[in-house]
Amino acid sequence: MRKSFIAGNWKMNLTVTQAVELAKSLVKSVKDCPHRVLIAPNFTCLDAVSKVLPGSPILLGAQNMAFAETGAYTGETSVLMLKDVGVQVVILGHSERRSIYNETDEIINKKVKLALTHGLEVILCVGETLEEREAGRAIEVVNAQIEAGLKDVTAEELSRVVIAYEPVWAIGTGKTATPQDAQEVHAAARAKVGELYCPKCAENLIIQYGGSMNAGNAKELMAMPDIDGGLIGGASLKAETFLPIVNYDK
Ligand code: PEP
Repeated sequence: MRKSFIAGNWKMNLTVTQAVELAKSLVKSVKDCPHRVLIAPNFTCLDAVSKVLPGSPILLGAQNMAFAETGAYTGETSVLMLKDVGVQVVILGHSERRSIYNETDEIINKKVKLALTHGLEVILCVGETLEEREAGRAIEVVNAQIEAGLKDVTAEELSRVVIAYEPVWAIGTGKTATPQDAQEVHAAARAKVGELYCPKCAENLIIQYGGSMNAGNAKELMAMPDIDGGLIGGASLKAETFLPIVNYDK
């Protein structure tokens, strides 16, 4: 039985004061939640937010990480630094990293392996563009990103990987994939992982949906058999919009 996993990606929003305030209000409300819940603040807020979370089931995530452990990489943040401030999970391969910062599958794979080697959990984001969807290539693109992102990741390490299917055209646009369209890609992604690893590995894999998920559509999306959670951007920035998603089944 897979445990639902709801994650908030705060992106480049919120000052330290605002992030701490939001984290505190989530901590108050997320107590006996049956799901896994994660918040991923900006780097400058991680340390302060980490101090709010002890005793809470809410996990601390980072939104990105360098592909190298240490050294002359101006502006980058190392896995060691993330662990130092209590980060447990790192989001890698987000479409904004792929499209704005030209992160390739090879770079993302390096990051995935480094994070796993250091004991972090990884949320590996994959998803097709509108052009690719319209050309009927959504599943092909997603499966290729999964295969490349997980290259040389062992079956043992895979148990610390979550895949987030985020159709690029649905991120921050207010457009959501229909539950059926999302389910189709999720099922194909799970089958791909079954092919690359083993049926049990595929069965245990958590696959989140991301792309304008909100209080109004979360329940319907989460009802799909292969949708195990959500990666939420815009709606994770306020307790009143994030908590109804966390509590989608109440
Ligand atoms: C995201 O950035 O991962 C995301 C899904 O954003 P939004 O919920 O705003 O579409």
